[in-house]
Amino acid sequence: MIIDAHAHAFPSLHDHVGYASPEEHMRAAQVHVVAPSQPVIETATGRVVTEQTLSDGKGMGWSNMVEVNFRYGEFGRMEWTRDGKDHHLQMFAPNFPESLAPEKMIALMDYAGVEKAMLHNAHMYGMLNDYYGEVIRKYPHRFAASAQIHEADCDKPEQIGELTRAVEVLGLTALHFQIEGFFRYDFRDKFDDAKFDPFWEEVRRLGIPVLWNVRPLGAPRERNYVEQVARLGKWARRWKDIPSVFTHGVHVGLLMDAGGRVVIPEEFWETLEADNITLELLFPVMQGNRWDYPFPEAQALIRDFHKRLGASKLLWGSDYPTSERAATYPQSLDYIRKHCDFLSPLDKDRILCGTAAELYKFPDPKGA
Ligand SMILES: [Zn+2]
Repeated sequence: MIIDAHAHAFPSLHDHVGYASPEEHMRAAQVHVVAPSQPVIETATGRVVTEQTLSDGKGMGWSNMVEVNFRYGEFGRMEWTRDGKDHHLQMFAPNFPESLAPEKMIALMDYAGVEKAMLHNAHMYGMLNDYYGEVIRKYPHRFAASAQIHEADCDKPEQIGELTRAVEVLGLTALHFQIEGFFRYDFRDKFDDAKFDPFWEEVRRLGIPVLWNVRPLGAPRERNYVEQVARLGKWARRWKDIPSVFTHGVHVGLLMDAGGRVVIPEEFWETLEADNITLELLFPVMQGNRWDYPFPEAQALIRDFHKRLGASKLLWGSDYPTSERAATYPQSLDYIRKHCDFLSPLDKDRILCGTAAELYKFPDPKGA
């Protein structure tokens, strides 16, 4: 059996499902791309724009974002208007869908030979607790799904209550936690502040893993990224009995030396070696179109992670449909399944199935 530890299904992005207003959703999307890996284009002229057009250039907080009518465009683009001029960014592949039905995700999984997937609930797609509750009720033998709350408000009873409802009523079996969510109050708080202890107590009581999306929250991005990863390591050692998944592998572009070699900082190893942390292998998305299929550079990185961490701390995720930027759905799996010859069949089985099966409580573990 093969389990995709990171996939998506979502209703129309233009419906802003689960958000109080379209503006609130688009602000969360705007902060997500404020320092994009892809070029920003002035639409009318095709000019590559290097000056900052999404923020005031002083930070990544809510109050740093400028009013530019930020929106989802067609063909995988994000669009906005600054000083009367339209700009866009090819954030996703041109075939990126406006919505992704669970039935289409299942068809893709069948095509690639994937039995089950964990659906990640991320701000770009909406606040999808109820939507995902429906999906897993309909397809308990194919999907498990994660809950999402407003991270910056998770000291408040409403957010703790929403998490409890998502798990105990809707049947979601993980928490997706994006540290970028703290932008709502301009990064006034950090996820390991004492005020959030009651929230983490509830996560522990519910017995669910946390799917961490760790990204830089300021400049210089390389240094800030390492700091956030180190913070997660300290947090994990304190909350020893909360299983954590370090999603999205590593941000390749932020860890590259001048010669193009990815150097994993010691702080990363310290965090990833915590007993309760598992690393998601997800390189087609995170290498930023530097490498071509079957990604030998990514295979070399996986070899290092495997050597130092062991297969039981690794799991495979596609991040479909974002992965279409660099690979088809089968290719996002095959660079490990058909390549990575240094992995024994047993270790491949752990990475492609066993680790995820243990961590994620699929509603119907046997059926397929
Ligand atoms: Zn994702």
